Amino acid sequence: MEMTAAISPYWHGNQTWLVILGASLFAAFPVVYAVFLAAFYIPVLLLLFGLIFRGVAFEFRHGDRTRMLWDRGFFLGSTIATFVQGAAVGAMIGGIPVANNQFAGGTLDWLRPLPLLAGIGLVLGYALLGAGWLVLKSEGRLREWGRRRIPWLAAAVLIVLCLATIAAFGERNRIEGQLFLGRTWGLIFPGIGLLAMFGVFAGVHSRRDAWPFAMTAVFFISAFLSMATMFWPYMIPYSVTIGSAAAPDASLYFLFWGALFVLPVVGAYTAGVYWLFRGKFPAAVASANLHRILVIGGGAAGLELATRLGDQLGRRLLADVTLIDRSRTHLWKPLLHEFAAGSMDQSVHEVDFIAHAHWHHFRYRIGEMIGLDRSKREVQIAATVDEDGQQVTPPRTLGYDTLIMAVGSHGNDFGTPGVGQHAILLDTPIEARRFHHRLVNACIRANAQSGPLRPEQLHVAIIGAGATGTELAAELRYTTRQLIAYGLDRIDAEKNIRIVLIEAADRILPALPPSFSDATIKLFAELGVQVRTSARVAEVTSNGVKLANGDFIPAELVVWAAGVKAPDFLRNLDGLESNRANQLVVSASLQTTRDNNIFAMGDCAACPWFGTAGKIVPPRAQAAHQQATHLVRQMKRRLAGRPLNSWRYRDFGSLVSLSEYSTVGNLIGGFWVQGLFARTMYLSLYKMHELALHGLTKVTLDTTSRLMTRRTEPHVKLH
Ligand SMILES: Cc1cc2nc3c(=O)[nH]c(=O)nc-3n(C[C@H](O)[C@H](O)[C@H](O)COP(=O)(O)OP(=O)(O)OC[C@H]3O[C@@H](n4cnc5c(N)ncnc54)[C@H](O)[C@@H]3O)c2cc1C
Repeated sequence: MEMTAAISPYWHGNQTWLVILGASLFAAFPVVYAVFLAAFYIPVLLLLFGLIFRGVAFEFRHGDRTRMLWDRGFFLGSTIATFVQGAAVGAMIGGIPVANNQFAGGTLDWLRPLPLLAGIGLVLGYALLGAGWLVLKSEGRLREWGRRRIPWLAAAVLIVLCLATIAAFGERNRIEGQLFLGRTWGLIFPGIGLLAMFGVFAGVHSRRDAWPFAMTAVFFISAFLSMATMFWPYMIPYSVTIGSAAAPDASLYFLFWGALFVLPVVGAYTAGVYWLFRGKFPAAVASANLHRILVIGGGAAGLELATRLGDQLGRRLLADVTLIDRSRTHLWKPLLHEFAAGSMDQSVHEVDFIAHAHWHHFRYRIGEMIGLDRSKREVQIAATVDEDGQQVTPPRTLGYDTLIMAVGSHGNDFGTPGVGQHAILLDTPIEARRFHHRLVNACIRANAQSGPLRPEQLHVAIIGAGATGTELAAELRYTTRQLIAYGLDRIDAEKNIRIVLIEAADRILPALPPSFSDATIKLFAELGVQVRTSARVAEVTSNGVKLANGDFIPAELVVWAAGVKAPDFLRNLDGLESNRANQLVVSASLQTTRDNNIFAMGDCAACPWFGTAGKIVPPRAQAAHQQATHLVRQMKRRLAGRPLNSWRYRDFGSLVSLSEYSTVGNLIGGFWVQGLFARTMYLSLYKMHELALHGLTKVTLDTTSRLMTRRTEPHVKLH
């Protein structure tokens, strides 16, 4: 849309010049016409087909449903029309046999290396001219898009030009003219052309917007002058001269007087249009017609989706993709317990939204979504403020054509007293960092303390023994030993550090088969991690956890990992259907039940799980990944106006990482896996997420660099 907007004001004027040129040639040089049509009737037919097809495509591409089809038609028509023009010029350089003012060659004479290379060269040259025009006339992403392509196109033009020169040597027996031999002064034109090409590169390098187009235009003018010098005095090389091809004097007089009136009018019209639409085409106006896809939440689901949509649609300017997140960086949530325990460094794994959006051709805007107006298709974004209370961005509204909600979930304390004040809910990177600081501080404080430790000191209570709580318990058992080993020698790990895992159900890991729970309980018993099952938490206090049965578990650090819910603002979000956990209810196409323009995925979506009795898809990273992959395809179908496919969750099983001690889990079909194989499978989940975001090269380099620095750094984060 932006591209066509950048050419549409001049489009009709250029077609007018094409018609005038064709008609004048016919009137002034009828012999040329006769010979030319006979020699190139296949290319001419293709040219007409290409011109008509691209003209129709240009006018019809405004409908959403068929736009992609017409765009391809426009591309095809333009390529054919340009290629045959180039091929005809290439065939002329090789010479056209004429006898008695009639073409004396074969129909397919033009299918030789030189004409074919000239055809390819002209396609590349026009593409270069077009890219230069976009840089000249547009702003923002379209200008960058054009600029990035210019060096490649210019290099390709030069390579094809070299190949065409070699091919011309192969045809030197056909070329009967003088070329530059008799008029070496004419070599100035190819020289200017070559300099202009350097000017194109220099213009891109110095980011001067007018240079690439101006220099390409100079290149084309010098190419025409070079050919005129080569062909002179021939009109059809090397058989019909300009004098012998000219029409009778009466026709030329008629043409002269006609042109005297018509040319100034068309010239004035063209100049008027260029003057009226002078300057740049503003980015905001240019992108106004693109389909706006707005993704809210750059987590496991949202960032994968925005990245792929940016790469596949945003990059080719087929859609305008924007991601909103209240944070500036992305961290894969299943790693939070490792960051909290200090076995991984957050800063090494963070993805910077601003840079990532720039590299993947989507727009990122910081802010927290707080409301929705479905009738206006707008979302409301709260103001953002920095640590000093200074406003960074004001409250805003953003429009959409397709809205995709991927705001995830957070801990659900079910109204338990004291959780908000005294416990940490391990559901954001900020909370994970807060927990880690408190853990390290607790160890340093205890080590520096001269008196005895209080009962709760160095005790950690983890409430909720699902996968997150259980993994955290194992991770803490490992990293606290590592931490103490770095010289905190007044702490006796076995005696002073205590980790208690509290679970309301009658076994830990209640969502997994009982054999998992038994194996994990056995391991925890060996490691000294205490487990309290069938224990309901009544209150969290400043120094521990009160159970419903009256027991008190002293603890300096309390983590709440018992259940999740979607953000509260999703409840009654402008009439969208939500469930008790605030999740937006969606159909199998991931569209919300009451608005087809709004999709939801990841933890914040309640999506039917086919093959189970009324269950919804569990809030898991693998579901988020599958939904993002599915929606990338569906967005393309939506843009093309095709019906959407349903999504089905494929459960690949569950894996629980028990730090360095073990990894256990079951895969599809209920296969029990353990040890190195299970660990590899567990790690592969994160690698798949990284691959979806960064691609193979970056992931390989990042992984290698992390493996190398791991050898020179502490294995646990100490600050
Ligand atoms: C500690 C832990 C361990 C886990 N381990 C596993 C595991 O081993 N395997 C597994 O499959 N799953 C695991 N999960 C679950 C998994 O992390 C989630 O299912 C997954 O991250 C969901 O992805 P999402 O994109 O829906 O949400 P998230 O990844 O939570 O992303 C939500 C994003 O939305 C942003 N956001 C939220 N509200 C707003 C708003 N109003 N406006 C703008 N932005 C907003 C947030 O900043 C965030 O970037 C674990 C979860 C936790 C917490």
